[in-house]
Amino acid sequence: MARIALFFNLWFLSFTIQAQLIQANAPYLPEQQHLMAELLVSFEVQAPIPSTVTEAWSAWSTVPNFTFGKDRGHMVMINDLDALHPYFREKVKQLIVLCRAKGIELAVVETYRTHAKQNEYKSMGKKYTRSGGGKSKHQYGLAVDVVPVVDSVAQWHDTRLWKKIGTVGEQLGLRWGGRWRSLYDPGHFEWTGGLSGNQLSSGYAPHLPKTFNSQCIEEELAQLEESWQAWEAEQATSARQTTASVKSN
Ligand SMILES: [Zn+2]
Repeated sequence: MARIALFFNLWFLSFTIQAQLIQANAPYLPEQQHLMAELLVSFEVQAPIPSTVTEAWSAWSTVPNFTFGKDRGHMVMINDLDALHPYFREKVKQLIVLCRAKGIELAVVETYRTHAKQNEYKSMGKKYTRSGGGKSKHQYGLAVDVVPVVDSVAQWHDTRLWKKIGTVGEQLGLRWGGRWRSLYDPGHFEWTGGLSGNQLSSGYAPHLPKTFNSQCIEEELAQLEESWQAWEAEQATSARQTTASVKSN
């Protein structure tokens, strides 16, 4: 064994010396040396290039269909509070905390919604939504759907509970879907800073109250936009695949 080890040591030593000699007497011109160096580097294992694109979106929590009892389509629902506009997000957190203080536990059903998801709801009929892609406040991170939960069961039909939750939301300055007649939607709360749906879809940003203290709101919103776009791309692909598989079936 010792002989074999010695042989290999000697072989490796001679190999290293040879390599150094070759380098010292390189058979190429000095101006070609950097090309050779580049060639050698290209054979080395490359370190992963650090990504500058935010990947926060892929970590957002989602819920699959029927999690809260109702049929809510093939595509997952994003229910992460981080997917909401920062100002509205704070309001939703307050809503959850204030309801909890009253003994009502709220589950977040859906926050941000993509065009593809909105169109899926639209295709599921009038009891799901009145709005097509681009027309829902969810698509601007300015709406949330919640449901009270008792013993792990979503309480969709408890009017008494809904009224209590709606009152808390309205006291926080939110618009409550429990007031709507054409599509009674008691789990829905939204805030638009005084903007109409058309203004939102034209790209207007909601006016933030002066009391709202967020120093890096612009940066936060820019990152949020990036995440929303990533989700749009993700669910648009998933929508195309669903359509394709339906056609082929
Ligand atoms: Zn909603």
